[in-house]
Amino acid sequence: MTRLLLHACCAPCSLEPVRLLIEEGFEPTICWTNPNIQPRDEHDRRLAELRRWTAANGIPLIEADEDYGAWESGVAPIGARERERRCRACYALRLAEAVRVARAEGFDHIATTLAVSPYQLFDTCNDVLTRLASAQGLTPVIRDFRPWYPEATRRSRELGMYRQNYCGCRFSAAEAALDRIRLREERRQAKHRA
Ligand code: SF4
Repeated sequence: MTRLLLHACCAPCSLEPVRLLIEEGFEPTICWTNPNIQPRDEHDRRLAELRRWTAANGIPLIEADEDYGAWESGVAPIGARERERRCRACYALRLAEAVRVARAEGFDHIATTLAVSPYQLFDTCNDVLTRLASAQGLTPVIRDFRPWYPEATRRSRELGMYRQNYCGCRFSAAEAALDRIRLREERRQAKHRA
């Protein structure tokens, strides 16, 4: 088995990557560092779910440093209008910490659950991980887990896991709320036309 540090954004998004990476011969240790998640109650709720799930399944969990001030000064000012730039900076803050932990703990391989969700910026996320990992001599393990997202949704519901309905920051909470309104309206109009 090859040791791998898996940065995780939450328990539901970890389900399928952990299963698939183990099948591939990796031995994942999960690393939590997500200072982007707001409000703090929501952050703590996602972390608590991840702690429960990793403990129940014998998966090692490292809780790394979380620099909330760096998120507010380095990511938040980019704001709502430039999503790609904002998310790139957000991914970079979290993955840089995961890379630091990987180096400190003697891992050679690193991956993330960040792009499991089809709502994330897959190419941006992988680009950030590849650059940060390679600069520190680590091997980025890039996989497209998106086809397993519906299975992750099904399994997490079956397990009764806490499931959030937005990415993490206050901008994403507003964006997700607007998306839900738009989708409801589209469904209403489609029904009206039928
Ligand atoms: S939408 Fe998600 S990835 Fe993008 S800045 Fe907000 S929390 Fe970070």
